[in-house]
Amino acid sequence: MNRKKRGLAIAEQLRVLLYPRRCPFCGDVLGFLTCCQTCQPELERLKLPRPRLPESEHCLEYLSGAAAVYKYDGCVQKGILRMKNAGQCAVAKEVGIWMAAVIFGCTFRQQHGIIHIDSRPIMRQFDLVIPVPNNSKKRAYNMPALLAKELAWALDIPMRTDLLQKARKTEQQEGKSAKQRMENMKNAYKVCGSAELEGKRVLLVDDVITTGATVSNCAKALRKAGALDVFAVSIAETQFDGI
Ligand SMILES: [Zn+2]
Repeated sequence: MNRKKRGLAIAEQLRVLLYPRRCPFCGDVLGFLTCCQTCQPELERLKLPRPRLPESEHCLEYLSGAAAVYKYDGCVQKGILRMKNAGQCAVAKEVGIWMAAVIFGCTFRQQHGIIHIDSRPIMRQFDLVIPVPNNSKKRAYNMPALLAKELAWALDIPMRTDLLQKARKTEQQEGKSAKQRMENMKNAYKVCGSAELEGKRVLLVDDVITTGATVSNCAKALRKAGALDVFAVSIAETQFDGI
């Protein structure tokens, strides 16, 4: 190990000692444990039987498919809201790696509190990882971007946050009917630098997929700019039970 790598390893060990790993969902210190003993039974219950989301339950236009890990309920819902509002990079790392494991079959191990990727999918399915843009000023952190960063690292695919942007301001989706949600997100995204998307397979990352209006409209902009394929992933999915 050269001097620079040794220095980085020592810095990482110090970071782990000063800021030990925490459960992404309840915030308890995990330390060297792989998963949280408190949340594990509920997480098992909330884990989707198959990550792939049925097209009959979500609007997945312009997408080749979508996948999630959990149902948006219980400790998952509380955890996501906490992550969104408090914004914790280390917590997003835990969840991003978990998404890579459940959805794409990456294997990882934690050693002295540091996560190492042991194996990645043999076939590279995507060329770029792109997070759903979030222009909200209310939240200090962009959850999809934090997750996308970890997925990009786990899958060894470049992440781009500059290619997909908001084209206009949108209203909060909460409290709207399915039709209003689609209308609110319609043509809400634009691409900057379409030459870089030509023929590319994109992994689009969001935190929660509800109706699918957000990821569908992101995919619409990406496909129109020449992307060959767009597949969406999120931590959790919730079936829309509005009007
Ligand atoms: Zn927990």
